[in-house]
Amino acid sequence: MYFPSWLSHLWRGLSRPLGSTTQPTWGSLSRSLVLSSQRRIPEFSSFVARTNTCGELRSSHLGQEVTLCGWIQYRRQNVFLVLRDFHGLVQIVIPQDESPASVKKILCEAPVESVVQVSGTVISRPPGQENPKMPTGEIEIKVKTAKLLNPSKKLPFEIKDFVKKTETLRLQYRYLDLRSFQMQYNLRLRSQMVMKMREYLCNLHGFVDIETPTLFKRTPGGAKEFLVPSREPGKFYSLPQSPQQFKQLLMVGGLDRYFQVARCYRDEGSKPDRQPEFTQIDIEMSFVDQSGIQSLIEGLLQYSWPNDKDPLLVPFPSMTFAEALATYGTDKPDTRFGMKIIDISDKFRNTEIGFLQDALSKPQGTIKAMCVPEGTVSEKYLKRRDIESIQKFAADHFNQEVLPVFLKTNRNWNSPVAKFIMEEQRLELTRLMEIQEEDVILLTAGEHKKACSLLGKLRLECADLLEMRGMVLRDTSLFSFLWVVDFPLFLPKEENPRELESTHHPFTAPHPSDIHLLYTEPEKVRSQHYDLVLNGSEIGGGSIRIHDAELQHYILATLLKEDVKLLSHLLQALEYGAPPHGGIALGLDRLICLVTGAPSIRDVIAFPKSFRGHDLMSSAPDSVPPEELKPYHIQVSWPTDSESEKSSLNHPHHPKS
Ligand code: ASP
Repeated sequence: MYFPSWLSHLWRGLSRPLGSTTQPTWGSLSRSLVLSSQRRIPEFSSFVARTNTCGELRSSHLGQEVTLCGWIQYRRQNVFLVLRDFHGLVQIVIPQDESPASVKKILCEAPVESVVQVSGTVISRPPGQENPKMPTGEIEIKVKTAKLLNPSKKLPFEIKDFVKKTETLRLQYRYLDLRSFQMQYNLRLRSQMVMKMREYLCNLHGFVDIETPTLFKRTPGGAKEFLVPSREPGKFYSLPQSPQQFKQLLMVGGLDRYFQVARCYRDEGSKPDRQPEFTQIDIEMSFVDQSGIQSLIEGLLQYSWPNDKDPLLVPFPSMTFAEALATYGTDKPDTRFGMKIIDISDKFRNTEIGFLQDALSKPQGTIKAMCVPEGTVSEKYLKRRDIESIQKFAADHFNQEVLPVFLKTNRNWNSPVAKFIMEEQRLELTRLMEIQEEDVILLTAGEHKKACSLLGKLRLECADLLEMRGMVLRDTSLFSFLWVVDFPLFLPKEENPRELESTHHPFTAPHPSDIHLLYTEPEKVRSQHYDLVLNGSEIGGGSIRIHDAELQHYILATLLKEDVKLLSHLLQALEYGAPPHGGIALGLDRLICLVTGAPSIRDVIAFPKSFRGHDLMSSAPDSVPPEELKPYHIQVSWPTDSESEKSSLNHPHHPKS
């Protein structure tokens, strides 16, 4: 059986490489007609009122009688009609018989996007009329019968990928947007990858797919949860931010290899590329250590990775949190390009530059530098105003100074202090940082973490700028995975730095060699927490868990000052022979987004919420009449005018809302 067009890519290899620069089109992906010999090919036309899909017909079908169902894509001079289904496009020749009930009348009068069924013969196109851009371009259908299954009103936008439409409109008419090739492609690739993951986990490694409740209770730590009122006065369920506690309890229950395609809920307000509900590939195993989980995930990704992309090389590289922060200024480094942060404090011990001197005189003071390649080439890549806006950004957001240093002294735009950088220092920097003549060095000083974080942000900003101006810095077809390990177990709370909060979550086990520090200097304890990073995005995270009830109690009550009563079920379970265990969760939406090269995670979710968490199609969340709130014993306390004004200022109208 033929298995043509872009779908064959999905079924044979899941996809072709799709960098953001090579978005597929109906035609481009359909071109390669491939027979899949090893894989079972799905039967797309079983059980339904068609014999074939529109996109699958080729010269090899010549002479066959076929029945197709699809949407009218367009019509040409009432002679040809192009029919579309999820699989592709096919040309229909409209018979020219003018009788009132004729096929011509049906096909010519049905508006575009009406859904029709046609039956006829596959014939070859007359010589010279083949369309090499269309995978079905060698044939057409000579129609005998046609049925209008349902007419369509004029659509708010055309179902053509090249027709620009706002995202608001797309979300409002999501069911129409889903007809587009791109959304079909993204969702089918997602389904295929998940299928392969299930196969790998359940069939090859004996995992059990278990559903856990989504009506749960409020738990301490972590993200804000959505509440669901119950009929008991004052009692609420909460939607889980992840199945974390349940998966640990499953380990206590002896279900020692669990996984779930789990829906998680976090009420985190509007954040780009976050969704209030999202999907994780959630995993937990007993009797495992960090390297066991890492190998499992590497195998899982390798197995489910689209075959026509370069195979993934494993093991993935690994970097400690401390190294990631010092070198890339973040715990999720984009390792597709250099521009690393370098500590140059030693080179400036006797500098005359005030702010550097100042910084070095403080206890944690450091000087850090980053080299922007070819930053000054004829001002093509980095312009003077870019440097100025970098400096402004540093001042506004980090309260930090940034000094640009150029090897060519005549280029010291806007930086009078630069003359205090001695020739000797320049040479030292050149050697240390392998600087070329046209590069720019960005220099900052201050406390280690702050200086690194600033340069980490500038590194990404500069990379975007350089790429915008034409430099090729990051290969869009490259997938650069990285494990980040040895996180601190706790971080100071943002709102009160004297208190601690868990870096990952409170169930994460301390690093075995740091356990003693828990009782003396808890802020120095490293954890058995690992994150998986892909091209600068965190796509997964997990940890080895605490299975000792006493230790868990100490961390919750004494160090995190949490109300342990809320977690008594878990603490109790740990006392009944809980096995050592650990796990991880992969963020499915983000992973698929990176694999497909989609501009946003909303493009890989069938019905996503807007930036502000609204469903623009159905207008959820929606109001409920007071009498319907009565059974829940709750009342709306309407905000005053000034309060609602404030909240709309916090949520300024965003085009994506
Ligand atoms: N539950 C964690 C999360 O959602 C993942 C894990 O530790 O397994 O981030």
